[in-house]
Amino acid sequence: MKQYVLAIDQGTTSSRCIIFNKEGQIVSQSQREVPMIYEQEDYVEQNAYDIWSTVLTTMADSMLQADIQPSEIASIGITNQRETTILWNRQTGKPIYKAIVWQSKQSNDICNALKEEGYEEIFHQKTGLLIDPYFSGTKIRWILDHVPGAKGLMANGNLCFGTVDTWLLYKLTGGQVHKTEHTNASRTLLYNIFEQQWDDELLHILDIHPNILPEVCDSSSLFGYTTAATFFGENVPITGILGDQQAALFGQLCLEKGSIKNTYGTGCFMLMNTGTKPTLSHKGLLTTIAYSMNGTVTYALEGSVFVAGSAIQWLRDALEFFDQASESEALATSVPSNYGVVVVPAFVGLGTPYWDTDAKGAMFGLTRGTSKAHITRATLESLAYQTKDVIDVMMDESGITPTFLRVDGGASANNFLMQFQSDLLHLEIIRPEINETTALGAAYMSGLQSGFFSSIKSLSSLQQTNRTFQPSMTKAERTKLYHKWIQAVQATRQFK
Ligand code: ADP
Repeated sequence: MKQYVLAIDQGTTSSRCIIFNKEGQIVSQSQREVPMIYEQEDYVEQNAYDIWSTVLTTMADSMLQADIQPSEIASIGITNQRETTILWNRQTGKPIYKAIVWQSKQSNDICNALKEEGYEEIFHQKTGLLIDPYFSGTKIRWILDHVPGAKGLMANGNLCFGTVDTWLLYKLTGGQVHKTEHTNASRTLLYNIFEQQWDDELLHILDIHPNILPEVCDSSSLFGYTTAATFFGENVPITGILGDQQAALFGQLCLEKGSIKNTYGTGCFMLMNTGTKPTLSHKGLLTTIAYSMNGTVTYALEGSVFVAGSAIQWLRDALEFFDQASESEALATSVPSNYGVVVVPAFVGLGTPYWDTDAKGAMFGLTRGTSKAHITRATLESLAYQTKDVIDVMMDESGITPTFLRVDGGASANNFLMQFQSDLLHLEIIRPEINETTALGAAYMSGLQSGFFSSIKSLSSLQQTNRTFQPSMTKAERTKLYHKWIQAVQATRQFK
């Protein structure tokens, strides 16, 4: 009897494996850090074998911990850090260079050259993305230009490209399968999300041969089977793959057009399901694929806030206001208001909708009476203001007004922040019982395909809410507060 579904959650800083039962509950989990390699300024890389070996270890560990046999696993789902790029030799299976992590900026010059040649619009029109080192396409070009022999391998048809999902799938299947799915493909800058195929024109611009690319499948597909050697003697089907933010959207069951989730982690990632037709943004949102099932592709709009939970880390580590991020809640609620303080945490510039890379952080409204409690409160509030900036653009560009916002990520545990967010947006906020929405999304996707979960409807009945937050602030009050935020952002951007 197959009692479990196993989700591999390969994130930037760590690989995790979580095993779920039929009720969608966690029965076991294991986590291992993946070392980062910073060899040069602007380079963020990892060893592709570290990514694979930590996944292998956490799979074994999670089964051993709960005394689960590999034969009890119905199917495997994968969710992964997106955009991170690996190229390997098709004959030997060995990577020809390290994994270039999404954060890495080493292809900046390639991006600038593309922009100078006027290619921005064509990439945007076809991929829904912007030309930025963040996405995989220019990272591939960088490896081809910098690794001796790479171009020759490509010319001979002996080079494989993969994002992390593809690399893990390749390893799990003993080198038999070279595939990806729509959500990961949609982050490469090479995939036409409208026509749903690798784009010849974009490949030509970047001088990349299509023979290195994986086959693109639905997120919910039979991708292949593990080999006895890679999964402890068992041939288990791998049946669901999603990029991490899309997995969180799916794990939160944001499957209706207009449903929306915000993840409050280091930064914030907001995704809105926009249905089966893509909406191209003109205000800095990305258009991306949310998931694909049974031959139908569903799209999303995505907006990001660069500094969110990391502003709380800054209060903890640089200003030494408290020892644990969770203490920020008690400190914030120890005062009745922010006492006129506004914090703009633009430590690495501002994301959607400002896209101002030169902005620096600022604090406004300080008086002799300002305390660390006020600054903490104002910093937490800044996460909510930045979220409002993004959601307002989403509503404007999609023409959709959501009726609630689903939340997850480390800082969503903060009740003060969630209540303030609800007040500011005048929207109900729903926080799930299982905060591991990313792994849950991969488990759902895999389990639906393998028959472990019978239907999406059956998943809705498993979904448990930890807490909801209802708006209680007057319109006059929230308008006044948001106006101050806008003023503060303007002043911050003028200071250069
Ligand atoms: P990531 O996946 O980006 O590493 P997580 O989802 O694990 O992030 O969330 C961690 C972030 O959330 C940290 O930046 C931390 O400062 C913040 N955080 C965690 N708990 C709280 C809390 N109770 N209140 C506010 N911020 C918090």
